[in-house]
Amino acid sequence: MAVIFLALLPGCFSLAERDKRAQDQRFYRLPWTAGESHRCIQTGPGSYSHEGRDEFAVDFSMAEGTALLAARDGVVLDVREDSDRGGSDREFAADGNYVHIGHADGTRAVYLHLGKGGAMVDPGRRVRQGDPIGFSGSTGWSTTPHLHFAVERLNPATKRWASIPFAFIEVPGSGVPRFLGKYRSRNQPTEIRSTRKTSVAPGGMPAPGGGRSP
Ligand SMILES: [Zn+2]
Repeated sequence: MAVIFLALLPGCFSLAERDKRAQDQRFYRLPWTAGESHRCIQTGPGSYSHEGRDEFAVDFSMAEGTALLAARDGVVLDVREDSDRGGSDREFAADGNYVHIGHADGTRAVYLHLGKGGAMVDPGRRVRQGDPIGFSGSTGWSTTPHLHFAVERLNPATKRWASIPFAFIEVPGSGVPRFLGKYRSRNQPTEIRSTRKTSVAPGGMPAPGGGRSP
């Protein structure tokens, strides 16, 4: 008991500070379909793998193939969806599929561990909150199927992106998900217009990989 207490104590202050700072970033809706609930299986700081630049990231448990929606308006910056590798060892850290969406204030959202072929948007695509952007999976450093979501800001000194505190509109209180809390989305999916089914590649042909199912 004493060990647990000592382990939690230092985190209490930083968690309170995180919650306070998160209020300034309360623009986000939970990135899955309204009415669905998913459990937070990791938050930060002071957690299993969310440390350093990932300390404010949040993991939500969800079955592979769960539809992911944009948490906030933005423009797609990068996409990776060719990986089928994943596992519970750090050696898989570079194997995760992802979608990165840039926001008007210079931050970006990271949607990580998507399934192979699990992206529904291409770089440059403008998305609105609620637009379908892909399907979840378990690629990369992942012990169980889940979505890793983070809001990041580019550090001009290190030239690296690092997570920042942020809040979800649907999450009661501070807006920051709690470990093992289960949260229901009110993110209304928009129409299919943001998928690649109708997109056209530079050569004038339909983009390869468009319209993939989960
Ligand atoms: Zn994570």
